[in-house]
Amino acid sequence: MMPMNDAALLTPGDYADAVTAAVRAAAAYYTDGATPLGDDEYDALLRTIAAYEEAHPDEALPDSPTGKVAGGAVEGDVPHSVPMLSLDNVFSAEELTDWAAGLERRLGRPVAAWCVEPKLDGLAVAARYRAGRLHQLITRGDGLAGEDISHAADTVLGLPAALAEPVDVELRGEVLLTREQFEHANEVRTAHGAVPFANPRNGAAGTLRAKDRPYRVELTFFAYAAVGLESAAGRDTAVGADTAVGLDGDLAHSALLERLAALGANTAAATAAHPRRCATLEEAQQRIEEIAALRSDLPFGIDGVVVKADAAADQRDAGSGSRAPRWAVARKLAAEHKVTRLLDVEWNVGRTGIIAPRAVLEPVVIDGVTVTYATLHNPADITRRGLMLGDRVFVYRAGDVIPRVEAPLVDERTGDERPIAFPESCPRCGDAIDTTEQRWRCARGRNCQAVASVVYAAGRDQLDIEGLGGTRAVQLVESGLVTDVADLFSLTREQLLGLERMGDTSTDNLLAAIETARSRPLNRVFCALGVRGTGRTMSRRIAAHFGSMAAIRAADAETLAAVDGIGAEKARVIVAELADLAPLLDRLAARGVGTAVTAPQARVTADAGAGEGPEAEAEAAPVAGGPLAGEAVVVTGSMTGPLTALSRNEMNELVERAGGKASSSVSKRTTLLVAGEKAGSKRAKAEELGIRIVTPDEFAVLVADHLPQG
Ligand SMILES: [Zn+2]
Repeated sequence: MMPMNDAALLTPGDYADAVTAAVRAAAAYYTDGATPLGDDEYDALLRTIAAYEEAHPDEALPDSPTGKVAGGAVEGDVPHSVPMLSLDNVFSAEELTDWAAGLERRLGRPVAAWCVEPKLDGLAVAARYRAGRLHQLITRGDGLAGEDISHAADTVLGLPAALAEPVDVELRGEVLLTREQFEHANEVRTAHGAVPFANPRNGAAGTLRAKDRPYRVELTFFAYAAVGLESAAGRDTAVGADTAVGLDGDLAHSALLERLAALGANTAAATAAHPRRCATLEEAQQRIEEIAALRSDLPFGIDGVVVKADAAADQRDAGSGSRAPRWAVARKLAAEHKVTRLLDVEWNVGRTGIIAPRAVLEPVVIDGVTVTYATLHNPADITRRGLMLGDRVFVYRAGDVIPRVEAPLVDERTGDERPIAFPESCPRCGDAIDTTEQRWRCARGRNCQAVASVVYAAGRDQLDIEGLGGTRAVQLVESGLVTDVADLFSLTREQLLGLERMGDTSTDNLLAAIETARSRPLNRVFCALGVRGTGRTMSRRIAAHFGSMAAIRAADAETLAAVDGIGAEKARVIVAELADLAPLLDRLAARGVGTAVTAPQARVTADAGAGEGPEAEAEAAPVAGGPLAGEAVVVTGSMTGPLTALSRNEMNELVERAGGKASSSVSKRTTLLVAGEKAGSKRAKAEELGIRIVTPDEFAVLVADHLPQG
């Protein structure tokens, strides 16, 4: 790749190399739709070349892409009646403001109005209609002459064979693959053994030129200009023949677009990014932001937003340069496709046993987000795309979608690429893989997760259950006796004796090991859950910080993030996983696993005291049995007697240890209020609802067996 640094630092040799690279990239792109460079890289290369030429005008090479339509890459043999120009680019709101100021200086007056429309990421074409009938379809080519691609016309939707009126007109616009058409095209292509398109634009380029394909790929046309709009009867409906409407005509651009739609041509009018007339540049800037924000939801790809002077008089007076009109400009958006390197492929097993490949990428910033992983769908998809480790690949990312790898740049291979190894056994449990469907699956299906999680939970750093290794875990899961770690704690002697190779001694040993594990401390029980990002160390910190499983479960992400080493992101993951694990945690608690409580090192719940603060729900699942079984308990006011030293959080833990459910607000579901001194509105509300109210001393008697020691 060429250096992209300050053009002033380029040597003449660097400059010549840059020109060669740009010409080669443009030629590849405009002929077969493949390109060794991403859009951003190509734009940057062109800017470097232009800057060098500005500093050294005498050294500009004749084949430089500067100032040429399509980088000078394409020639055709059908002359255009009016040149098909490109657009100049701006890359920021500031550059757009400068560009508009320049235009207004040239006009000597403010621009009357702007028209803002999406810049479709496809191929510019001209569609010639005679007496309202489609007669010829031509590519833009070098802007002066294009290639006749009429053979492809019937695969292009939005380009009617006949217009609503018998007019002679040349519609100009963009042919592209909508996102839906792109997905469909790749399905059809791969079914025919062809390589999938790298991205929609490359697919559109390849499809328009292709002849004699054994399958059909549909494209869509969007009109945005017209030339020589005149009726067959000679009645001048807009402007004279052979003039670009909007250049010399008297229809404003926004009105022209409406006219084209009325004739039956497809325009972007029906989409959320529809063209809009804006009275001021501020309004236009706002519309650009709106269209940019809609980008990932649009049915087609856009690579920018076009801003045009709307009034015909402004366009006429501004005129055009050799390459681009002076009254229109493209505000470019960051590319959604980027080129980066495929470093590795990971194989992850989902809950249902699906084994999914994931691409590990050299980090690449796409539209402001650093992308490190991308989806690869399934093994067949990898084979179809012909991907290899070390390949430079196209990666697509838009909005919130999961980034995906689209295609390798085969021309860029160095010979050091390695084939992607597919797993031969389940990467999680080691069992066979069912490869009969496109999506591979562990032969154990859902049991894969069960075996793996039981083996992990029984491990030395977790519950340390001796005699419960892989083979035994497989046996327990496949017999149906165990679906998760909680089931271990309700296994009976009879059940185990019924299994193959389980004699009296091994059964008794296993039951004894499980019994020992029942009283493992909180950190080990928590670690055994296998929550992502919580190994031994983090589990110890979390256990020490909260003191009880109930308190951990009651914690929100903000509270969890207070534990040393847990950031906001990890805290959210843990909270979400614990919520998923709620049924398992309930069953573990019911079997007395992980119910030990130690004094927490930090108060995790602010004590609202007698004040009636925000009604934060601090609920946790109750322990089965106990004197408060079935009770929904609220504690308010200052505690006295044996409870004096307990924080509100410790009171809530006490409630839960005694089998009740602790809550911070009084509702119809509340069954018991512990009202200490200075109890305020909670007491009043409980009285109103007829809820049983006890003093701290009465409550202490009720839960005497569960009071903290010391
Ligand atoms: Zn498995």
